[in-house]
Amino acid sequence: MTHTTHWIDGRPWGGAGERRGEVFDPATGQVTGRVDLASPAEVDEAVAAAAGAFHAWREVSLTRRTQVMFAFRELLNARKKELAAIITAEHGKVLADALGEVTRGLEVAEFACGIPHLLKGGFSENVSTRVDSYSIRQPLGVVAVISPFNFPAMVPMWFLPVAIAAGNTVVLKPSEKTPGAADFMAALWSEAGLPDGVLNVVHGDKAAVDRLLDHPDVEAVSFVGSTPIAKYVYERGTRAGKRVQALGGAKNHMVVLPDADLDLAADAAINAGFGSAGERCMAISALVVVEPVADALIAKIVERMARLRIGDGRHGCDMGPLVTLAHRDRVASYLDAGVEAGAELVVDGRKQGIDGDERGFWLGPTLFDGVTAEMPLYTDEIFGPVLSVLRVPTYEAALDLVNGNPYGNGTAIFTRDGGAARRFQHEVEVGMVGINVPVPVPMAYYSFGGWKQSLFGDSHAHGTEGVHFFTRGKVVTSRWPDPSHGGINLGFPTQD
Ligand code: NAD
Repeated sequence: MTHTTHWIDGRPWGGAGERRGEVFDPATGQVTGRVDLASPAEVDEAVAAAAGAFHAWREVSLTRRTQVMFAFRELLNARKKELAAIITAEHGKVLADALGEVTRGLEVAEFACGIPHLLKGGFSENVSTRVDSYSIRQPLGVVAVISPFNFPAMVPMWFLPVAIAAGNTVVLKPSEKTPGAADFMAALWSEAGLPDGVLNVVHGDKAAVDRLLDHPDVEAVSFVGSTPIAKYVYERGTRAGKRVQALGGAKNHMVVLPDADLDLAADAAINAGFGSAGERCMAISALVVVEPVADALIAKIVERMARLRIGDGRHGCDMGPLVTLAHRDRVASYLDAGVEAGAELVVDGRKQGIDGDERGFWLGPTLFDGVTAEMPLYTDEIFGPVLSVLRVPTYEAALDLVNGNPYGNGTAIFTRDGGAARRFQHEVEVGMVGINVPVPVPMAYYSFGGWKQSLFGDSHAHGTEGVHFFTRGKVVTSRWPDPSHGGINLGFPTQD
């Protein structure tokens, strides 16, 4: 039985918490650990440690900070399999997928190794006679990162390397469902030479989140989770005067035009619909097929679904269980609801054979046909292995569907027509677009984020927007002593 506790000021927390949550192995359905759930006072301890470390950390040279980033990158790369095993044990996703998320997180650490370049400002000589002007970017102070259950390593890593490299100190509040990865990474940061207090982890639930949102010493909040909580975090955090970026839920459409390579599209629909059991914010859940190719595409998808192996993520299966029993049951409830609403249940995931403990939180890949825009299958973010086919007559109808949806995280188009793809990328109201790429997660040097109800705030994660989010700009205008000076002038400064 594991016990996950907070990581404060460079070491595991020594206190005795009042509340604890249970951590499950979703593949066996068994409780495998406990996690401390922080009280407001425990959050205060973590924020105090971060605040105490800030002034020294921001003075550390860029050279030294970069060395810490490189050291962390090397340590995490060397131990990524251990981290992947922790993720699989708590989340259920298959080991290869867990390793994939660690790798995507590592890419942000690699991006942050370039922090000296990323923080470079501009310099203009002689903006006025013998006057120079230049811009610099400075850290904010203590920043909070609040992350969801589905990417226990990658989502914290979207923020930590950039925030830390830019000179901030951090309090991370991971999901209480998958807490182990955060402490593993915090220990590696320490080993890499990060001073105590620069990165702190508090485990917990709403009580911890609310304290972080209200704490006067927290300058900024990066949140990732479901849309209702993202909106709440954004509103409460900004009301308290903080800078907030809150990434929310999604309903991602994959549009297939009649000229698409249907084998490529079928593979993509399977990978993006059922990878990580559909528990990805970039998962495809709405397959929008422009007729007349729906029958042919569905036949190819069904054929592929029959070959998928569902089971324990440690057994080399294609897809693992859902994260909790409650979530499994919620996702499964959409199967009956879909049939009642009039959709055709083509493949029923409840009938799938499982290579794993029967007490695990299983639900096999499910396919619906004949889904329409009014059905809960389409209107709700299901966040499970349920793929809905919507048949439309034209490209315009497909675009209307995507643009009429309240979410705008990711989308993809499958076609052989470059002109149609170019038109789609131009017209679609979604933050991340794939062209014959079903899960278009941007590289670390671009920024990750959706539009509409998928993101509250102005800044996307990592890339240039991430650097801007974690820093404040300053512009300096300087004149060095010169034998001549202009004398008193009460007019507004202008160049001459
Ligand atoms: P969630 O919203 O339930 O939880 C996210 C975080 O908020 C967790 O740390 C949790 O402890 C905290 N939280 C939960 N309820 C709260 C409350 N009432 N008040 C304050 N804090 C609260 O999300 P989840 O179930 O962990 O993750 C899945 C969701 O995250 C999906 O909706 C998915 O689309 C979304 N997600 C979005 C992105 C993105 O980049 N847009 C990435 C990953 C996941």
